Amino acid sequence: MKAIVTGGAGFIGSHLCDYLIARGHEVIALDDLSTGSEANLEQLAENPAFEFVKGSILDEKLVNDVIAEGDTVFHLAAAVGVHTIVDHPLQSLHTNLNGTENVVEAAAARGARFLVASTSEVYGKNDAEGLTEDADRVLGSPLKSRWSYAAAKGLDELVAYIYGVDSGLPCVITRFFNIVGPRQTGRYGMVVPRFVDQALKGDPITVYGDGTQRRCFGSVFDVIPAVVKLMDTPAAYNRAVNLGGREEVSIKGLADRVIELTGSDSEVRYISYADAYGEGYEDMQRRMPDTGLARELIGYEPQRRLDDIITSLADHTRTNSPSPHTTAA
Ligand code: UDP
Repeated sequence: MKAIVTGGAGFIGSHLCDYLIARGHEVIALDDLSTGSEANLEQLAENPAFEFVKGSILDEKLVNDVIAEGDTVFHLAAAVGVHTIVDHPLQSLHTNLNGTENVVEAAAARGARFLVASTSEVYGKNDAEGLTEDADRVLGSPLKSRWSYAAAKGLDELVAYIYGVDSGLPCVITRFFNIVGPRQTGRYGMVVPRFVDQALKGDPITVYGDGTQRRCFGSVFDVIPAVVKLMDTPAAYNRAVNLGGREEVSIKGLADRVIELTGSDSEVRYISYADAYGEGYEDMQRRMPDTGLARELIGYEPQRRLDDIITSLADHTRTNSPSPHTTAA
């Protein structure tokens, strides 16, 4: 396959590039380096099967030119991270809506296979135990910037889906649930790299709210092979498929696990949502995937436990210190 990976210099995108190259495919990564980093791709720089193109998915001509070179498009480029979305709502919306439309259109015109990375954010405040793909979306007001990400990603799914139905675009939608791993930065909000960084520096671990909110963290190393398998599975076309882990933990529980596993003497510090994200912020209390559809389609069984995920991220952060993953406020 000759794959185009938009967002290829990002956390998940760069692992996908590694995985595809290791399996003998050719890859072009397109990334504007807004949140991604060329350092994530330095191991591929000399590989003749790999090419990096610096540019934005908002550049329609560039997107068309790059996608004309490939037969499979993994669309991972997006404005990501709660801090990014809250701090730059308009730019995030623009990237996530118009950028995706450019990429889908180009993939359809090229006759390429297409996968779009979506997110568990689309379920909003639905806190059911085990969210299935057809679960209802429970979103707050569109005027609360946190929900703009869910709104944009929901529309991304819809655009891809309509192209799949109307134009026969072979299209897969993956919904990632709190995916974690080496190269993920805490700078844009993601809690596990933030806690690991804080623990390794001995800084206070910043738990937002009362820490009872729960998440289910998944390993990037479980998710990447699943993404590639889904692209090769026609029964997955025109479907949305949840991907994530299965071990649920409260955020306070996560802080304790990070402290224990890193041997840190950090204390836990509680910070109000208003101080963390500004007034009017709404969090979701619980977010847990049902990954039964992925199991049915491709035999998906996540292997990595939360402790493995934390330990591998801590190892990566230690060997890359001084860390570029400095934490935001
Ligand atoms: N969170 C936290 N401290 C931080 C960053 C995040 O307590 O330094 C909380 C955040 O409020 C949320 C959870 O951790 O309840 C997961 O946050 P993240 O941004 O990683 O993912 P999402 O909110 O999209 O699930």
